Amino acid sequence: MKRPALSVVVPCYNEAACLDVLHARISGAARAAVGDDYEIVLINDGSRDDSWPVMQRLAAADPHLVAINLSRNHGHQLALTAGLDLCSGEQILIIDADLQDPPELLSDMRATMAAQGADVVYAVRRKRAGETLFKKVTAAIFYRMLDRLTDTPIPLDTGDFRLMSRRALDALQSLPEQARFIRGMVAWVGFRQIPFPYDRAERHAGETHYPLGKMIALAFDAVTGFSTAPLRWASHIGLALTAASLLLLVYIAIGWLTGSAVQGWTSTMLVTVVLGAVQMLVLGMIGEYLGRLYIESKRRPLYLVADIAGPVQGHARLGY
Ligand code: UDP
Ligand code: MG
Repeated sequence: MKRPALSVVVPCYNEAACLDVLHARISGAARAAVGDDYEIVLINDGSRDDSWPVMQRLAAADPHLVAINLSRNHGHQLALTAGLDLCSGEQILIIDADLQDPPELLSDMRATMAAQGADVVYAVRRKRAGETLFKKVTAAIFYRMLDRLTDTPIPLDTGDFRLMSRRALDALQSLPEQARFIRGMVAWVGFRQIPFPYDRAERHAGETHYPLGKMIALAFDAVTGFSTAPLRWASHIGLALTAASLLLLVYIAIGWLTGSAVQGWTSTMLVTVVLGAVQMLVLGMIGEYLGRLYIESKRRPLYLVADIAGPVQGHARLGY
């Protein structure tokens, strides 16, 4: 099998309104970069709109296009995983479907990759147009918090928009975990990785599919996937409370010895309430890890494919 020089992988959820423009702009950028030697892999992540019929129409008209229809909505990171499993290019561009990441940067990213001998060129958001202040602030706090927690240095303000070499992708796909925080996993893989600053555009159409709930879920996957610091805090909190309770013990003993023991509803309540809260918090932290351990131990496939439209060029692993 001959690999195409380039695969462009795009996870799509309810992006019907973007797909025609997306296809045209990616095709233009790919052609400018590698001529005819490219494939575009679109993944329909259980969209509720017309994304799949639109993809089928595009795939029927363009031999460069492969479209994968997942069996249901598996979430952004797993949809992306499906596309990365299926694509077969020597270089792989990961990009969002909403055109917030301009495909035209491809040529410059390839030039950077060649000039620096890099395996990964990851796009760093300098500006984010058309996103709410809330999103920008929470994202900025999240990436900085993550950076302090994790042992793997995960680049700040970086999404999944990036160009990768085949060997970096193969390394990435050898990580089997269910809870996938792909931008962190790529950082973990190592090799030579170079930042590429860019200004993030507005969505071409539609609205973000990352409401607060999903952002928090992704943040939990990121923290638990890359750090056991919260578990360490749990033991630190336990140690600190043990030290405090020893002091309290001395205080109680003195009260008993001097006969001034009763009084003190306030202090009793304080101790009960604080200890109760801290215990629940620590149990919750342990529960987060335990739950993930349980999910990983089931070893379910990461996603299921319902249909494929267009030529499958590569070694379709399809996750199961
Ligand atoms: N996406 C997906 N499955 C989901 C949610 C999102 O495949 O369940 C895709 C979406 O179509 C887009 C990318 O993931 O291509 C990023 O999503 P979005 O643009 O909504 O996130 P934001 O840019 O607002 O962080
Ligand atoms: Mg977006």
